[in-house]
Amino acid sequence: MVGSVVDADMIPYKNRSDQLTIHQGCILWGARVVVPPSLRSEMLTELHDTHPGMTMKGLARSYVWWPKIDSDIEQTVSTCPVCQKMRSEPAKAPVHLWTFPSQPWSRIDIDFAGPIVGKMYLVVVDAYSKFPEVVKMTTTTATTTINALRDIFSRHGLPEILVSDNGPQFIAGEFQQFCRNNGIMHRTSATYKPSTNGQAKRVVQILKSAIEQARITKQNVNVVIAKSLLVYRNAPHSTTGAAPSVLLMGRRLRTRLDLVFPSVPEHVKQKQYKVLERSSNLNVRSFVEGENVLARNYQGKEKWIPGVVTKVLGSRHYMVRVPGYLWKRHVDQLVKYNPQIEQENDWDEVEISPEKSGTPEAEQLSENSNRYGNTSGTSSNDSVEKNDNQNSVTDNSSAKNTGSAERRYPLRANRGRTDH
Ligand SMILES: [Zn+2]
Repeated sequence: MVGSVVDADMIPYKNRSDQLTIHQGCILWGARVVVPPSLRSEMLTELHDTHPGMTMKGLARSYVWWPKIDSDIEQTVSTCPVCQKMRSEPAKAPVHLWTFPSQPWSRIDIDFAGPIVGKMYLVVVDAYSKFPEVVKMTTTTATTTINALRDIFSRHGLPEILVSDNGPQFIAGEFQQFCRNNGIMHRTSATYKPSTNGQAKRVVQILKSAIEQARITKQNVNVVIAKSLLVYRNAPHSTTGAAPSVLLMGRRLRTRLDLVFPSVPEHVKQKQYKVLERSSNLNVRSFVEGENVLARNYQGKEKWIPGVVTKVLGSRHYMVRVPGYLWKRHVDQLVKYNPQIEQENDWDEVEISPEKSGTPEAEQLSENSNRYGNTSGTSSNDSVEKNDNQNSVTDNSSAKNTGSAERRYPLRANRGRTDH
């Protein structure tokens, strides 16, 4: 893009002009939505919802961008007492590179956090994805720990290696037996190094922060923990660079922040519905008023009689005018018909009988029926011929007053008659 940019505010946009796209009215820079100035403070509030501290930057990078967003986030965090208080907590845990497993949920680190406000929390972290599971515990015996793990394993499966510290519940015979029975190799951190279950310790810090945050902001502690875990599971992890949910589950979890994106799936869904609708309409044939059709005849020897749709009664039913009568027909009793193409027809051999003689539709037609000269319902070839002649005259004399049906039949009828 070439061009002189006068407004200094536009320079950040100009620098990215090759990477800016528009989707459904939203400007995107890569996958990030470019937030207009009027909505930035609202967006900052949303990103700041769980007081993630400087993690807010990483979180924002998954969703939004605007010029100087990082400094706006720094400003938000540095002026927030809750974030500042959290900051004082040592958050960084040592990383154990050589034990990095090759697949999700093959090695888990487990630890207990607490007591925090009188409660203990079992923290389980997948070493591969860093995905945390947190269980509030009433007691922390070997039995209750096993039960909590069974619940978690029911979702994620059995790990190959379980790393814990030398807590009494972990070195209890019952726990050892549980691991052996399930083919889990139990390693205490002493076997490796004290830092091996660092990931669990890190989540414990997050948990402590959440609980502290709930206390400061006077929110429900369970709500704050749940929200903090959702943010943590969904935000790019500093070690892996990917969101734990992506590495474990293969997908990002939907959060309120996803509402910022133009709703592409919704757009696609609506398009798919339209295609579906169209194809189902193709499957279920439809007719319009004035359309030439062959209508199923149930009283003569001819199964199909040419007619014209006079009224659409719904998606499946139609009123069809055939010479002398008005029939109600289901879509399955109608086929498309082109009188121009179909030269051969048995019009003059058709036996027409009144099908709806008692119905209002039939009564309304009485005048026309007279014109056709066939009201008896026991027409012969002669009477049909007579009708045709009469019809031709009517057609020629008052074409404007007669429906397209009448205008078309004489031609067909005459054509048919020449076959005799
Ligand atoms: Zn904050």
